[in-house]
Amino acid sequence: MSRNYLVVIDMQHDFVDGALGSAETQAIVDAVAARAASFDGTVAFTLDTHGADYSETQEGRNLPVPHCIRGTHGWNLVPALEAVRAERDARVFEKPTFGSTGLAHWLASEHRTAPIDSIELCGLCTDICVVSNALLIKAALPEVPLTVNPALCAGVTPAAHEAALATMRSCQVHIVEG
Ligand SMILES: [Zn+2]
Repeated sequence: MSRNYLVVIDMQHDFVDGALGSAETQAIVDAVAARAASFDGTVAFTLDTHGADYSETQEGRNLPVPHCIRGTHGWNLVPALEAVRAERDARVFEKPTFGSTGLAHWLASEHRTAPIDSIELCGLCTDICVVSNALLIKAALPEVPLTVNPALCAGVTPAAHEAALATMRSCQVHIVEG
């Protein structure tokens, strides 16, 4: 049996239809949910997770838009993804910053248990948390093929999305061509 992993990054209200949402982020929800629901393998999720001290953090100083405060509506997965998470009883990694070291360590641990055949990332935002996690996973598991489908990601802007895809392609992340 092949061991394939899909990680859904930060598909939370604040990035879709909340504080930092956009038409581009809303446009991928149904496709990401369909991919996660039908994925033949293990699905995991990350949650961008800040506390009441957000404005005091480096991220908060640089991006003074409170978002994904633990326990708020904006922190929750959007319903289509929450349904998949619940259905699969999928693992969730809360992360206080862009990349999740907990996710990378968990994948490395899974790989030691039995070799992982592939890892795919999707979600938000391409140019911040998707690329950050892609590079962390690439560092932890350089021999495991890592894939990103641009149709299942969105950036802060379309130009930033494209720039992040170019960076990931340079770092030998397989970018699915349309
Ligand atoms: Zn954040």
